[in-house]
Amino acid sequence: MDVPDSTDLSQEFPVARGKWTATPPAPAGSPAGSPAGSSAASPAAPTDDRYSRQVLFAGIRIAGQARLASSRVAIVGCGATGSALTQLLARAGVGNLRIIDRDYVEPSNLQRQALFEESDAAESLPKAIAASRRVAAFNSTVSTDPQVADLTPANAQVLLDGFDLILDGTDNFETRYLINDFAVANAKPWIYTAAVGSYALTMNVLPGETACLSCIFPDQPGGMVETCETSGILNTAVNLAASIAATEALKILVGATGQLRRTLLSFDVWSNERAEVNADAPRPECRACGERDFVHLRGKGRPHITLCGRNSVQIHERHRPVDFSELERRLAPLGTVRHNDYVLKFNLRTSSQVEHNTIEMTLFPDGRAIFKGTTEPALARSLYARFVGS
Ligand SMILES: [Zn+2]
Repeated sequence: MDVPDSTDLSQEFPVARGKWTATPPAPAGSPAGSPAGSSAASPAAPTDDRYSRQVLFAGIRIAGQARLASSRVAIVGCGATGSALTQLLARAGVGNLRIIDRDYVEPSNLQRQALFEESDAAESLPKAIAASRRVAAFNSTVSTDPQVADLTPANAQVLLDGFDLILDGTDNFETRYLINDFAVANAKPWIYTAAVGSYALTMNVLPGETACLSCIFPDQPGGMVETCETSGILNTAVNLAASIAATEALKILVGATGQLRRTLLSFDVWSNERAEVNADAPRPECRACGERDFVHLRGKGRPHITLCGRNSVQIHERHRPVDFSELERRLAPLGTVRHNDYVLKFNLRTSSQVEHNTIEMTLFPDGRAIFKGTTEPALARSLYARFVGS
């Protein structure tokens, strides 16, 4: 799949407007909104006090804090793990965070997704937007760039380019392999992080130095298909995984590479079982880092309609800017419809079509849609054609 010619996110992804919100108060003479301009040079007194306990730590000190402030990190997925990673790094003063998430806040998220509140769920706010607002409330010196988008081979270059580090807050191996291919191809570090049930897993990937995800898991591991939907999840497992990964992120950003863990670590907070798999060196025959065959980055075989793991189907086959007001007028006779700047939600009114009664459509401004209440792609496609257009 071709990478879009345009690097203008606002063209390719309409929801990308308003990037780098929560811009730090710029010191006189520095360009406002400059993502890298927050940071070390910022003399704001509250900032000095804010990080006073962290700079006392021998691994950080003032020099490390300055490096954190000028660092750029992309966080892919802002559910439970992504929320915890975002919160830890933003509070630690990592200066520039791009938060990429395709989903919206729901009540069932609040048990473990620490950046969100009941009002976010009531509004069905996109997680990237809600997360950015929350960060601004507790650390206005951090620049956040919320991207309401599904990371795909087509937009990976645009969304992930130019960062010092990529963090995994996703819930699926498809996206993790895509991140791995991008990171290996571009020689950027990333950190794999996962939590399900009572189980936390994480591994640092330093392309050219350590094993990559494909070295360890050449194919999607069959024994790990359990998800939060089927196995539930403890918020403590999430926070453990995120704490370890965020600490490794701090080491990478301050340059303490000698302290990095070079294993795939797993820890079960319920059984207290702990295991580590050596990931110290790339595997020469690895498809990604050995043969440099970036099949996931090329997008081979990726469908335009995907299950998103919670009795839902996502349709993201094309970008078609949608006029929410016009669509709300059109759908109002058919059921309950409401929208804000970020999402339109539609529930079909009870009718003879009983099978549709519990299906809810959530539509994003770029035309992407999530149908909740079905796992049948064909049904989702036909409803999309009916409600939005074919
Ligand atoms: Zn590899």
